[in-house]
Amino acid sequence: MTAKLFYDDPYAKEFDAEILSQSEHKGKYHIILDSTLFYPSGGGQPCDLGTLGGVELVDVHESGGEIVHVTASPLESGHVHGVLDWGRRFELMQQHLGEHLFAGSIWNLHHIHTDRLRIEGDNVSIDTDIPADMDAILEAESAANEAVWADIPVEVVYPDMAEIREHARKLPPDNATPPVRIVKVEGVDYVPCCGLHVSSTGQVGIVKVISCENHKGGSRIYLRCGRAAYRWIASVHHEVRKAEAELVCGYDGINDKIAALKSQIHALKSQNEATISRLLRPLADSLMRDAEISGTHKIVRHIMNQSTQDEAKHLFRLITEGDKSAVAVLACVNDEGVFLMIGTDRGSKDVDVRPAFRKAIEILGGKGGGTPFSAQGWGKNSQAVNEAVDAAVNVLKN
Ligand SMILES: [Zn+2]
Repeated sequence: MTAKLFYDDPYAKEFDAEILSQSEHKGKYHIILDSTLFYPSGGGQPCDLGTLGGVELVDVHESGGEIVHVTASPLESGHVHGVLDWGRRFELMQQHLGEHLFAGSIWNLHHIHTDRLRIEGDNVSIDTDIPADMDAILEAESAANEAVWADIPVEVVYPDMAEIREHARKLPPDNATPPVRIVKVEGVDYVPCCGLHVSSTGQVGIVKVISCENHKGGSRIYLRCGRAAYRWIASVHHEVRKAEAELVCGYDGINDKIAALKSQIHALKSQNEATISRLLRPLADSLMRDAEISGTHKIVRHIMNQSTQDEAKHLFRLITEGDKSAVAVLACVNDEGVFLMIGTDRGSKDVDVRPAFRKAIEILGGKGGGTPFSAQGWGKNSQAVNEAVDAAVNVLKN
């Protein structure tokens, strides 16, 4: 059994050990030591990294009760010196304790139970057993930060099971055998945990909730703690400053500016639509006068050159909404290809434009589809636009 030096002193950064065994597995080397400072991944906390005998570790995990140190190249047997990636370890301890402070607070305030800690990069997430609303979450966030600023010592204790049952916010797994390791923050949290934590709450710096989503009948809450929270705040600040410069306002004016811009866009769109309709109206009227009568329908055909899909749709609406018996066959040719639209008013039940559309879009070498009263799509073969429109009109007439 490897001695777990990380429990003796979570602040030690270097150590010496003896290599007990080394074996090759798929091009990687698995090393067992007599003692280690490297915490293996477990309990939601990722493993420590660093170097062993100057060789970079790629993973540390527990397997069959052993702590396995994985490297990409072999080590010389015998004595070895290990150096922890301390920046990584310190952040993991900040994140882990930050999670305890939040989980303890939401339990104390709202009796919401949390589980399944995951620390993934800068992100900490936990799941609640019942849905947690944002007010409750933010209240717990605030309490967690009060605990940070109170700079409470973090204790590791091994009480008897009776005491654990009385005080713990969650019980150890059924297969846990005493002594059970309890991580205690006076007045905030008391929970079985095998992970590593900073030695006082003040070192967490800040706990910030980022988001929350529904998850399996409860909530999944995303947090940033410690240096990772600082990085997040710095990147948000960077983006906010760009928005402030772009919108020429302070951060508290950004939402008002966006609302004003949205309503301007809305007004411009309405104006634009009215203008397009006004410009296309004479064309729609003249096309209606030239419509080909086929039974109870008037077939209106037209090819627009260098026009947009939007303009074609406008013309389509002017024709079909103006006369319920009109069936429009419109093609719009531009640099992107041919936009084809065939249809009639929504209320027309006695026509199915799809066979005509399929025929024409096939000639155009394109794709698309729709309903019996309206079909549209894009084709590539703009040379064949006249042939396609003729073919569609012929299908509609028969
Ligand atoms: Zn924990």
